[in-house]
Amino acid sequence: MLFTHDTEVALAFAVALVNTDSDVDALTDVAALDHLVSSWNWTGSRTHDEAELREVQQLRPRLRKIWESDKDGVAAIANDLLAEFHALPQLVKHDEWDYHLHASPSAAPLAARMAVEAAMAFVDVVRADELDRLRICGNFDCSDVLVDLSRNRSKRYCDLSCSNLASVRAYRSRTAGAS
Ligand SMILES: [Zn+2]
Ligand SMILES: [Zn+2]
Repeated sequence: MLFTHDTEVALAFAVALVNTDSDVDALTDVAALDHLVSSWNWTGSRTHDEAELREVQQLRPRLRKIWESDKDGVAAIANDLLAEFHALPQLVKHDEWDYHLHASPSAAPLAARMAVEAAMAFVDVVRADELDRLRICGNFDCSDVLVDLSRNRSKRYCDLSCSNLASVRAYRSRTAGAS
């Protein structure tokens, strides 16, 4: 494993959150937020209102900037999020999980916890000097972000459908060249 489990989960969630805001916004109401929160097993306090939704929506462009920044930029964004949302790293164990880091209390607002968890994960990426694993999808008409956690650094597409589309295009351009 490249990073600790909690860091890899946090990176995967940051990707999922940023990618709700691609061609179509997939996070436009509280029901969509509820779905995102439950499918990623977020616990802790919720207000289930428009203000909470807006805070989570507004976090997305700030996180997307991480994919568009160099190392100094990523470090600055992570530091800003940690300071703004009052991160306080603590080792905790709960449920079936052994010690891992929580950096904001479960009573903190949802967007604050999401911001701090993502920032802590990107701190690990910067410290490990693995920024080149943060990529934009290689399919030219897709702007989704991805984190390549593969051993051989081979992940180029956000998902299987973009990967399939790219191979169909490559095939067509080969056959077009041959005729
Ligand atoms: Zn936990
Ligand atoms: Zn894609």
